[in-house]
Amino acid sequence: MPNKKTVRIDRSVTETNDAMAQRISHSLSDVNVLSVNIMGSPGSGKTSVIEGITNTIPAAEIAVIQGDLESDIDKRRMESVGIAAYQINTHSGCHLTAAMIEQAIVNLTFEHTRFLLIENVGNLVCPADVLIGQHLNIVVSSTTEGSDKPRKYPVIFKRADLIVITKEDLASAVGFDEKSYIMDIHSMNPRAKIIKTTTKDKDSFRSVADWLMHEYSLFYPGENP
Ligand code: MG
Ligand code: ZN
Repeated sequence: MPNKKTVRIDRSVTETNDAMAQRISHSLSDVNVLSVNIMGSPGSGKTSVIEGITNTIPAAEIAVIQGDLESDIDKRRMESVGIAAYQINTHSGCHLTAAMIEQAIVNLTFEHTRFLLIENVGNLVCPADVLIGQHLNIVVSSTTEGSDKPRKYPVIFKRADLIVITKEDLASAVGFDEKSYIMDIHSMNPRAKIIKTTTKDKDSFRSVADWLMHEYSLFYPGENP
């Protein structure tokens, strides 16, 4: 009888990650911290969105975990606006994992923290599929990436609770077709909120902060300052 080869798909890695992610989100809920997974392409403006939020929400209420392949450039950007930040360097890793977040949380203090903003590695693919203990997902999407991104990367846009369009001031220069972009999102994820921003108008990030504070009040009623 010939040797029969069997291929076993090992699910244990994702199961371990997901169990850990669930523990993280529960322990953050226990201390009334809302954790947000911020995803988007490299250069889409994830760090600028976080900076923009700090114009409305006091820095003391925000903790940031920065995921990057290398460098602590974004962490230092956070610290320069008074935000406690922890840098994860994934080296060749193209997404954050729950184990990385657990390690980061141990190194952060959450005394006055209400929002844990986790900037994932710049990538529109796998961060959508790996749970890291987030309560909510934000996708940051710039006009310069083109209006076809929701159709090309539907998974991440389907998972988004909020989509922040950045570089709105460049929309017409790069021929960003906002109408079809928004229609595509509505057809795949009708519950997603969409907010347009530009660093040329610092006030445009106020709506993102307002959305976060509103979500906070839904997660933790009675815990508002
Ligand atoms: Mg960044
Ligand atoms: Zn990946």
